[in-house]
Amino acid sequence: ERGERSDEQVSGAKVIAQALKEQDVRYLFGVVGIPVTEIAVAAQELGLRYIGMRNEQAACYAASTIGYLTGRPGVCLVVSGPGLIHALGGMANANMNCWVVIRRNTTHFAISKETKKMPLIVIGGSSERSQETMGAFQEFPQVEACRLYSKFSARPSSVEAIPSVIEKAVRSSIYGRPGACYVDIPADFVNLQVNVDSIKYKECCLPPPVSMADTSAVCQAASVIRSARQPLLIVGKGAAYARAEESIRKLVEQCKLPFLPTPMGKGVVPDNHPNCVGAARSRALQHADVIVLFGARLNWILHFGLPPRYQPDVKFIQVDICAEELGNNVKPAVTLLGDINAVTKQLLEQLTKPLWQYPPESKWWKTLREKMKSNEALSQELASKKSLPMNYYTVFYHVQEQLPQDCFVVSEGANTMDIGRTVLQNYLPRHRLDAGTFGTMGVGLGFAIAAALVAKDRNPGQRVICVEGDSAFGFSGMEVETICRYNLPIVILVVNNNGIYQGFDADTWKEMLEFQDATVRAPPMCLLPNSHYEQVMTAFGGKGYFVQTPEELQKSLKQALADTTKPCLINILIEPQSTRKAQDFHWLTRSNM
Ligand code: ADP
Ligand code: MG
Repeated sequence: ERGERSDEQVSGAKVIAQALKEQDVRYLFGVVGIPVTEIAVAAQELGLRYIGMRNEQAACYAASTIGYLTGRPGVCLVVSGPGLIHALGGMANANMNCWVVIRRNTTHFAISKETKKMPLIVIGGSSERSQETMGAFQEFPQVEACRLYSKFSARPSSVEAIPSVIEKAVRSSIYGRPGACYVDIPADFVNLQVNVDSIKYKECCLPPPVSMADTSAVCQAASVIRSARQPLLIVGKGAAYARAEESIRKLVEQCKLPFLPTPMGKGVVPDNHPNCVGAARSRALQHADVIVLFGARLNWILHFGLPPRYQPDVKFIQVDICAEELGNNVKPAVTLLGDINAVTKQLLEQLTKPLWQYPPESKWWKTLREKMKSNEALSQELASKKSLPMNYYTVFYHVQEQLPQDCFVVSEGANTMDIGRTVLQNYLPRHRLDAGTFGTMGVGLGFAIAAALVAKDRNPGQRVICVEGDSAFGFSGMEVETICRYNLPIVILVVNNNGIYQGFDADTWKEMLEFQDATVRAPPMCLLPNSHYEQVMTAFGGKGYFVQTPEELQKSLKQALADTTKPCLINILIEPQSTRKAQDFHWLTRSNM
C-alpha cells in the first residue's frame, strides 16, 4: 500500500548481496571470516556464486579474471586488515593490466578499479566504526590503502548508501580504461538491521559507452598506412578486452597486413593465421616503418617503442581508450582515441572503400617469412633433442601436439612462460592468461580457477591448461585444494627445473651441502631437487603424474585430457640448467618475462 511502511528488516549483508545482484555481478571469490562471512552467505542465497579460496591474493586474481573474460567485474571479498592487505597484490595486478575487480572488506567497503583492462571489485570488511582509532581488531586505513591500487575507493556512509556506492564501483570498473574498485564495509554494517523500505537499489548501470575516433585522424591514419613500406599491426590485450577480434581480423585479411600479438593479445587473430609474424617478432619490430598499436602500451613489453629495437623514425599510430596513454615514450604519428572495435571499423571503412591492399609479394613479407622459417627450424631442432632430462622445447612441442584448440592456456614462470608462449598456440581471443604487464608470479591457479568456472558455464568440456614453473606454482600451490573442492577439471603442468630460472640436479645439491648448511651454501635460486609436486594434487583426490621422458609426458597428458571429471597435475622433470635458445636481443628487459 502506498505510504504504508513495512516493518520488515534487512541486514547490511543482505543489502550488499542484493546490490551486487542488481549490478549483474555473478561471482564472488574470497576468504571469509569476521565480519564478511554473512555477506558470502547472503550472496549464495540470492543465487550468486561464491568460491572460497585459500589466500586473498589468489581470490583477487580469480575475480579480476572474471572481469577480463566476461566484461562484468568479479568480486573479491576479504576480511579486515591483513585480509585486505593480501588482496592489494591482486588489485595492483588488475590495475596494471587494466582489469576490473571489486572487493569488499570487513571494516571498509571500498571499490577500486585498476588501470589495466581487468575490471575488479574488492569488498573489504573493516573494523567497527565505534572502535576506530582505538586499536580495534585488524584496524587499518583501508580506503586510503586501496587508493593507490584502484580507480575508486570508498566507504558508504550508511547501510542505505550501499547500493549507490556499489553501482558506482561497478560502473567505474568497466567504464573508460577498466580497473579495480574498492568498497569498504565497516563490521557493524554487516549485521545492522534496517527497514527494507529505506533501501533504494540502483538499476544496473548501462554497458560502457562506445567512443569513436575523430574522423580526420582516421583519414590521416589511413593515409600513413597506405604509404607504409614495411607496415606492422600490433594486437594487444586491450583488443582482446574490447572484443575487437572480428574487425581486426577483417583489417588483417582485407588489407593483407602482417600482425604481431602481444603475449595476451595472442588469439585475437589465431596464432596460426598466415599473416601472424609472431615467430619473427624481433625482426618485425626492428624494421617496421609504420606500426599500428591496437590496445598495447609502449611499456617494457614493447621495449618502450625505442631504438635499437625499433627504427628511430618509425611512425606509430596508437589506438587506445585512454587519452593519457597516447604519446607515452614516443611521439606518435597519429593518435586514435576511442574504443578499439569501433576505431578498427572506422579504419576499415577508410582502407576498403576503395579497397587498398599491402602487396603480398613485397620484400618485407619475404624477409618476415624467411625469418619465421629459420626461427621455427631452430626451435624444432631443440625440441627434437633426445637427451634426458628433457629441455623446455621438447616439453612444449609434446604439449602443443595434444592441446585442444579451444582450451584456455594459463601460464607463468620465467623460462616456462617465455618459451611456452612461443610454442603453445592460441586460436581464440581471451584464452591466454599470464603474468601480464606487472610480471606477477602466483597468478596462475587463481586465473585457472576463474577460467574453469567461465568454461563450465559457457562451454562444458572446454579445458583449462595451467602451465606453471615450479617456483611460480609455489606461490599459490594450496589453491589445488580449492580446485579439488569445486572439482574443476584443470590440467596443471609443473615444468620442474628445481629452481627459480635454474636449479641443480639432486647429486650436485647433495654434494654442495655435504659440509655446509643450505642457508650459507645453497644458491638463492635453488629449490629442493626432484620435488613431487604431483602429490599436492593426489593429497586432495585429484590425479597426479610424475614424468621424466617424452613418452611418459605424452601418455599422462593424453589420459589427463581424456578425463573431464577430475583435476590433474603433471610434474615434468626437465634439465635443471635448460634455458632459451640464443636471442638476438634479451627480448624482454627482465628475463622473467
Ligand atoms: P599488452 O600487454 O597486450 O601490450 P596493455 O595492457 O599494455 O596490453 O595495453 C592495453 C591497452 O588497451 C591499455 O592502454 C588500455 O587503455 C587499452 N584499452 C583497453 N580497453 C580498450 C578499448 N575497449 N578500446 C581501446 N583501448 C582499450
Ligand atoms: Mg623453475
